[in-house]
Amino acid sequence: MASTKYIFVTGGVTSSLGKGIISASLAKLLQARGYKVTIQKLDPYINIDPGTLNPYEHGECYVTEDGAETDLDLGHYERFLDITTSQSNNVTTGRIYQNVINKERRGDFLGKTVQIIPHITDEIKRCIKLLGSKSKFDVVITEIGGTVGDIESLPYIEALRQLRWEMGKNVLTIHLTLVPYLKAAGELKTKPTQHSVKMLLENGVQPDVLVLRTEHKLTKDIKKKVALFCNVEQESVIQSIDVNTIYEVPLLMQEEKLDEIVLKKLGLPVKETPALEPWKEFLRRFKNPKYKTTIGLVGKYVELADAYKSIIESFVHAGAANECEIDLKLIHSENIKNENYESALKGLNGIIIAPGFGHRGIEGKILAAKFARENNIPFLGICLGMQCAVIEFARNVLKMDEAHSSEMNRTTPFPVIDLMEEQKGVTEKGGTMRLGGYDCVVKKGTNAYKAYKKNLIVERHRHRYEFNNAYFDDFEKAGMKATGLNPETGLVEIVEIPEHKWFVGVQFHPEYSSRVIKPHPIFVEFVKSTINK
Ligand code: GLN
Repeated sequence: MASTKYIFVTGGVTSSLGKGIISASLAKLLQARGYKVTIQKLDPYINIDPGTLNPYEHGECYVTEDGAETDLDLGHYERFLDITTSQSNNVTTGRIYQNVINKERRGDFLGKTVQIIPHITDEIKRCIKLLGSKSKFDVVITEIGGTVGDIESLPYIEALRQLRWEMGKNVLTIHLTLVPYLKAAGELKTKPTQHSVKMLLENGVQPDVLVLRTEHKLTKDIKKKVALFCNVEQESVIQSIDVNTIYEVPLLMQEEKLDEIVLKKLGLPVKETPALEPWKEFLRRFKNPKYKTTIGLVGKYVELADAYKSIIESFVHAGAANECEIDLKLIHSENIKNENYESALKGLNGIIIAPGFGHRGIEGKILAAKFARENNIPFLGICLGMQCAVIEFARNVLKMDEAHSSEMNRTTPFPVIDLMEEQKGVTEKGGTMRLGGYDCVVKKGTNAYKAYKKNLIVERHRHRYEFNNAYFDDFEKAGMKATGLNPETGLVEIVEIPEHKWFVGVQFHPEYSSRVIKPHPIFVEFVKSTINK
């Protein structure tokens, strides 16, 4: 078998240019041409993983099936490619250093001085190659986080330089930059791109392909100029113009022939043109909705939509599946109060309560669950959102006035949500929650069963607290039913109110496994229940 090819995607000029989307789009096109592809993200920060990061810092923490807390770009990779990523798809500087320091403590370096080059760069290279060798991928795309020129990125760029030198034509570098438009001058400017490529060259890396983000179409002359100054063939200077949805980017990159150019440069057969039919069908439905619905997403990080990335994308997929345009209103839970909750939530066709941690905004979320239950408004609660629905039901239906989760109130007389037994001795924060995929048995005849159409499901988790089974019978009798249970432990995974139009709370995170061409059934059914046809 031919050896694995490695494509690196670096970024210059500014952050937020969409390296993750370009990487995922290229991967999609190569996959559609018949190649086995995966993507990896290297993050230059010192946290071991983003699990301990506040969402305001770094957006959502994405959880893989194998229980790794990772960068949100992995969500894009899974949604675009319909693949399952793992711990090895996301490596941080913290993890690299931790591995090297652990080796040093074990004495593996035999008395040598441990240095950035070669020890840190060797570890980076090992993590990159590990992914290729493990599952015999044809192509591994590695996205290097941050911007060229950052101190933090230097060891990664150096590792890339070494890999190019070691593997020659099996390695290819794509550099993504910005060509800004200066309104006053009426011109597109290429200088930032030239400088950014110069910086890469100073570090010994010549990019093979340049992808230029732009708000206006690039002329031939501009491409020619960039090619000349940056040592790149003119056909390898690719335009990436702003589009309405990230899901158009693969088609745009196909038009620009990014995939063909990359394959030729790697010496791989171009094969047949990707059909991408299901993808196009998704876009067609997305752009031509027949229905409209308004859904309120209640959370406490609404100032930063990245904090709810996977949920927002799941609605895009489920909206298209229902041929429905979704007006998703992000509602700050701290603004929902006893005095105003009815007016704050009025006019919504559905309410979803987001996952979360800690006390801030919790009473607003509980009020939102009450409003949805009392007014027969379709409701989906995810993780903390499900826990809020349970607390609300306990307080207002079971008349357990001070019911709460012991996360928020340690001395509540009714801890209807309580710390899991296995969590009781845990003191360390990083990577210690109940994480990743666990089985759930779904009861027949329920909304969940109607969605999944099967008995046994596996969904991803990220929590320390659970439904307190001491109250199981009280809830069941009063009309909130446990409709999904973990078969080994009896942990309540799904609750429903059968009397209600559509009221579902899930302890797991369906948003992590919704894909463009496989929208998540829970989101699809939830959206469906909100549409007035
Ligand atoms: N804080 C809650 C728990 O740990 C919910 C977590 C979440 O929403 N991801 O159980």
